Amino acid sequence: MTDFRDARWYAMRPARSTKPATYRCPLCGRLLPALIEHTLVLPEGDVSLRRHAHTACVVKARRAGRLALREEIEPRGPSLLARLLRRG
Ligand SMILES: [Zn+2]
Repeated sequence: MTDFRDARWYAMRPARSTKPATYRCPLCGRLLPALIEHTLVLPEGDVSLRRHAHTACVVKARRAGRLALREEIEPRGPSLLARLLRRG
């Protein structure tokens, strides 16, 4: 997976920075100053591929059925503890 859009799922978290940086939102292609509150998007949780996106763009993409979250793609099975305690 080399392209942002190829990921099967995305991890997301709110971000805001005091760095005088400007990012390019991968969803709309417009500029995003780090100072405003935005969303950090990690394709398949890969920090090296993280992108800074406008929160509004993330919301819009999610409503359009894109940017699936991990739990939507890989529903959790029984918890580790449940598996450990399961009898043969
Ligand atoms: Zn955007």
